[in-house]
Order: sequence, then C-alpha cells, then structure tokens
Amino acid sequence: MTTQHQGSCLCQAVKFSLSGDFTSFFLCHCSRCQKDTGSVHAANLFAPEATLNWLQGETSVTTYQHANTRHSKSFCKHCGSALPTVAASIGCVVVPAGCLDSEVTIAPTAKIFVKSCASWAKNLNAVPSYDGLPEE
Ligand SMILES: [Zn+2]
Ligand SMILES: [Zn+2]
Repeated sequence: MTTQHQGSCLCQAVKFSLSGDFTSFFLCHCSRCQKDTGSVHAANLFAPEATLNWLQGETSVTTYQHANTRHSKSFCKHCGSALPTVAASIGCVVVPAGCLDSEVTIAPTAKIFVKSCASWAKNLNAVPSYDGLPEE
C-alpha cells in the first residue's frame, strides 16, 4: 500500500495530498537554495512516481523555474510558502518538508552542497536553544 501524505501552505489557500513513498530527503546548502528559502538550506523530500493531488487552491500555486538549471520552486502566490513541485525532468515529486502536515517518517538522507554553506551556519550546535521566545 502506498503512503498518503497531506500538506498545506501557511495561509491555507492551498492544500494537497500525495500518494507515494519518499526515497530520499536532502538538506541542500547550495547558494540557490539559500536565496530561495531565505535560510541556510532547503529541506526537500523526493518521491519518485508519486501522485500529487491539489485538494484546493491549485490556481494559487506558482512555479519559478531558474533559467538553464533544474532548480525550481513552487509556492503559494498569497503567502509565499514553499509547495511541492512535479519535477518531470527527474520523474519525481519534490516536497519541501515544511509544507507537510502529516508526519515526515524518514530522516534526512544527506546534507548536500555543504561547500556553499553560509559562514554563519557552520557551528549552530553552539547557539543557545529555547522552547519558545527567550525569557527577558
Ligand atoms: Zn498560502
Ligand atoms: Zn540547492
């Protein structure tokens, strides 16, 4: 039986389901992913031969294809949240982990393009952690 996954964007205009299994989960530190996420790395799950169904808001989904590369990003045009992309070139649905509402059941497979890792992100284990906002 194939696994069912559900997800949505921050403003809830877009909801989707995905039928299939994730076979890899990459944390990509490349410079394009830093721009596209505004953060240190993308966290993308790969589901070959999976079926993506937009449950609502498909017309709110925009896909940016970076010229002359395989880098693309789908997002909600209202709230900007990352959403899945059907990557026909690699026969795969690429799902940003953060847009899933169902539990992510596989651990990250690898950190990739770490040579491009932002200098500020090289020693994050040393940064103090809080469950919520820091106490005053
Ligand atoms: Zn949205
Ligand atoms: Zn990348």
